Amino acid sequence: MRLISTLTRALCGAGFALPAWALDLALPVDCTLGETCYIQQYFDHDPSAAWGDFTCGTLAYDGHDGTDFAVPTRAAMESGVAVLASAAGTVAGIRDGVEDFAPKVDGKECGNGVVIDHGGGWQTQYCHMRMGSVRVKVGDAVDQGTPLGLIGQSGMAEFPHVHLAVRKDGVEVDPFAPSTSNTCDMSRADVARDDLWGPQITYQAGGIIGAGFATAVPEFEAIKSGLSSPASLPAASPALVLWVYLFGAKAGDAMVFEISGPAGRIMAERVVIEKNQALLFRAVGRKMRATGWPEGAYAGTARLMRGASELGSTAVTLTITP
Ligand SMILES: [Zn+2]
Repeated sequence: MRLISTLTRALCGAGFALPAWALDLALPVDCTLGETCYIQQYFDHDPSAAWGDFTCGTLAYDGHDGTDFAVPTRAAMESGVAVLASAAGTVAGIRDGVEDFAPKVDGKECGNGVVIDHGGGWQTQYCHMRMGSVRVKVGDAVDQGTPLGLIGQSGMAEFPHVHLAVRKDGVEVDPFAPSTSNTCDMSRADVARDDLWGPQITYQAGGIIGAGFATAVPEFEAIKSGLSSPASLPAASPALVLWVYLFGAKAGDAMVFEISGPAGRIMAERVVIEKNQALLFRAVGRKMRATGWPEGAYAGTARLMRGASELGSTAVTLTITP
């Protein structure tokens, strides 16, 4: 356990007892990060009214004391994505019966949730689970990976996700950087780079979580619900629009779009993102010419750029039919 020495150094200074053992956490969700789910918000390491994740990135908000593992759409949530115990332990508390998508109720910000005691002063808590999905009860012994219920959007939640809080002796710690909860300056000599994850989790600063063709600029609500891209559209479609759904965009990032058809490139456009946004969408397109869209195969690509580096890319295809 490489963590013990660093925790000892950090926590003793803060008045903590030496941890008897450290946790090895596994992903608390049954999905693939970067493919079917992603991390929307990390633990806030900025002690001021501003915020910053452990890398000094923007994926946090002021006072956020956990990690939000999100699925991209309501449709993905409704398909049923399991919340899993991050480590073995005993169920110390549960709540169910809080409606999804309902306004938050004071004192029930966590929504439907589960608390697991791991011994040694360690606890994990799982919040915003789907109403009626909690499948463990207080006193149950769970293993790492035991299903606890499903990802939902209950309590204080603006998108479908599970909020994982990790506590040592009642104090929240960041599983990505447990010894440095009040700084994100990883260049400091006294800042350890250890984390509580067994299997490594790669930090993703932002990315593309959905894309598609449409005949008009879609409503954001439709995208968040799970709008899909049509396999085909008629030649008389009034416009050809390529939309992309993003997380973690920063001011100055750029979306680079390209649409091509049977006769070659139809458009290429670079759209600069003007402000930091946790969740957003952008769309570009062209109106139909009088003759209609040529029949055949179309392709759209979108790349999210931060300076010279590409944070994510996606490609969608479409057939124009008579
Ligand atoms: Zn959260």
